[in-house]
Amino acid sequence: MSINLDKYQELAALCSQRKVTLVAVSKTKPVEDILALYKAGQRDFGENYVQELADKQSLLPADIRWHFIGHLQSNKVKYIAAFVYLIHGVDSLKLLREINKYAIKNNRVINCLLQVHIAREETKFGMDEAELEQAFQELRQKPGDYSGIAVCGLMGMASFSEDQNLVRTEFLFLKSLFDRYFQSTVTNIQPPVLSCGMSADYLTAMEEGSNLIRIGSLLFGVRN
Ligand SMILES: *Cc1c(COP(=O)(O)O)cnc(C)c1O
Repeated sequence: MSINLDKYQELAALCSQRKVTLVAVSKTKPVEDILALYKAGQRDFGENYVQELADKQSLLPADIRWHFIGHLQSNKVKYIAAFVYLIHGVDSLKLLREINKYAIKNNRVINCLLQVHIAREETKFGMDEAELEQAFQELRQKPGDYSGIAVCGLMGMASFSEDQNLVRTEFLFLKSLFDRYFQSTVTNIQPPVLSCGMSADYLTAMEEGSNLIRIGSLLFGVRN
């Protein structure tokens, strides 16, 4: 087992002090590692792959809050709709409608974050500023059509770069959009969620207003 309990205690203390949610990203890691962190007090876990998440959820304690942080395909929403706590990477209205449909089927409201493309890299997913505006307009105009979802904030991934100034600029842009749309918005999760920051850039993200960080390798060791 490779989990780093010292690092966990340090991050958990920092996050509780700053009122930041720590999501432990457990993708590719065995249930034993998740359980070890659970026993140390951790309740929020993040996964990237639908099948892996569904398998782990069925084996692990029911009070874990499962965050889906990967790129979700519309045709796979049904496998996690019954239990997922927060879906971070929603990047289209099509996906939002699909989540809405399965939320209603499961008699629940599913919390979502809209993912914004903030990195220079083309490879990362997410909406640009115009698409985000379109999505919020649609939600405002037809609230009745989206009764199964609650958009609780924004998510972003900065460039994979050593240059913390570049990373900071990207987080600042995300924060400005977050303030525009969520300054005075009451959502299912209070306060609204600004999900940004990973093992390499969580301090910069927190300095720029993140209130949810997604940490994998610092807690579970590097992935293969
Ligand atoms: C894998 C992953 C993380 C965690 O990355 P680390 O660098 O290992 O902390 C966070 N967010 C997303 C979206 C991921 O895919």
